[in-house]
Amino acid sequence: MGSEPVPPPPIEPYKVKVVERISLPSREARESALVRSGFNLFNLTSEEVYIDLLTDSGTSAMSDRQWAGLMVGDESYAGSRNFRHLEEVVRRITGFPEVIPTHQGRAAENLLFSLLARPGSTVPNNMHFDTTRTHVMRNGARAVNLAIPAAYDSQDPHPFKGNVNVPRLAALLADPQVKVPLVMVTLTNNTGGGQPVSLENLGEVSRVCRARGVPLYLDMCRWAENSFFVRAREPGMSHRSIAEIGRMTFDLADGATMSAKKDGLVNIGGFLATRDPELAARAKELLIVFEGFPTYGGLARRDLEAMSIGLEEAMDLEYLAHRVGQVAFLAERIAAHGAPVLRPPGGHGVYLDVRRFLPHLSPADLPGQALAVELFREGAVRSVEVGAIMFGDGESPSPGETPLELVRLAIPRRVYSSAHLQYVADVVGAVWRRRERIVGMTMTHAPEHLRHFTAKFAPKPAA
Ligand SMILES: *Cc1c(COP(=O)(O)O)cnc(C)c1O
Repeated sequence: MGSEPVPPPPIEPYKVKVVERISLPSREARESALVRSGFNLFNLTSEEVYIDLLTDSGTSAMSDRQWAGLMVGDESYAGSRNFRHLEEVVRRITGFPEVIPTHQGRAAENLLFSLLARPGSTVPNNMHFDTTRTHVMRNGARAVNLAIPAAYDSQDPHPFKGNVNVPRLAALLADPQVKVPLVMVTLTNNTGGGQPVSLENLGEVSRVCRARGVPLYLDMCRWAENSFFVRAREPGMSHRSIAEIGRMTFDLADGATMSAKKDGLVNIGGFLATRDPELAARAKELLIVFEGFPTYGGLARRDLEAMSIGLEEAMDLEYLAHRVGQVAFLAERIAAHGAPVLRPPGGHGVYLDVRRFLPHLSPADLPGQALAVELFREGAVRSVEVGAIMFGDGESPSPGETPLELVRLAIPRRVYSSAHLQYVADVVGAVWRRRERIVGMTMTHAPEHLRHFTAKFAPKPAA
């Protein structure tokens, strides 16, 4: 570690037109914020945070074209032209004829899983994201993760660590005891480090699903970042456009859920898209109950317009090269301090390997939370635990595979500069140098669903 060549900062393919003031809160302010928040960084106010890497979801900077799009919102309840534009863009990108807008990704998941997941059924995924898994479980189904073994080794350099373990998927689908209403694949694998899925692997998944007549749905939140990795890493893909690779991806599937707060480059929005007209008709009925009429799906029509424009901008090669370059830059700058990062760096964030960072803490010490708290204490950097707290309340993972214990530094799109990222790397470095003195945490309040959002913690007394 620390021996890799440190890449230069990637150059932004944009210039800044609007700015938002940020500042570093004092050490005392950080300490009192931690106590007030119950040591849960979700409870901090944004002013208490200097560099906010909690999530890349809905935190993007919109472009001038997207802001202009807001001004042409046609706020008709039904039949808005902004919906027709969105429908046209999503059909062109995915090839899925049915497009159902929702206010964000989990609303699309709610539609899909309420219609397909049944009590006692099993939904496989490379790795379920927290909301996806919760929707599967709420409908009484089992959420099973079937990533390849390399996904569970933070140092394995496999170029497609998001890939599905196809033999295990095939065995699951062949088991007469197991009912599988649909197979999901998450692009990129957020829970496993923002790691891509290869087209080759997805093709095998698709063949297995089609042979069994099981629909394949994609969690396409980061399809453009996934396509960028396919273009860079998969043989024979380097001459293709992101749009082409995306379309090759969707051709292998039956539908998708989207949080446009990721690769849609908007602050709110999402959709469900499918080839299945019957499922779409039932989803629209549910949509009217929970979200709104099918030509707005819980959003202002101007938001649909910003989403249509953002989906196109997300496929721009120079934008993607910069974005993935920022993630690699931060990873290498952290590694240069000697701190352990998940390799290879993913598409939307740098993930710290908590077991290597804090080997003196046991799982019961909630080491991921302890590390996230220290990053905030050191430099008002907000990150998120992706480990036992986010996922430890469900069923145990596949036998023989220990889930990773990670802290994610998610990079918002088009928001921070290389100087900000260098600052973050130096904060991680400072915490790394005093790692042996970091104490564990206990959970003092544990809610039932998606507990990481609202749990409360307390530091354990120093040994
Ligand atoms: C964010 C996310 C979701 C849920 O989307 P929301 O817009 O937050 O509801 C689902 N899957 C993945 C992989 C995500 O990253």
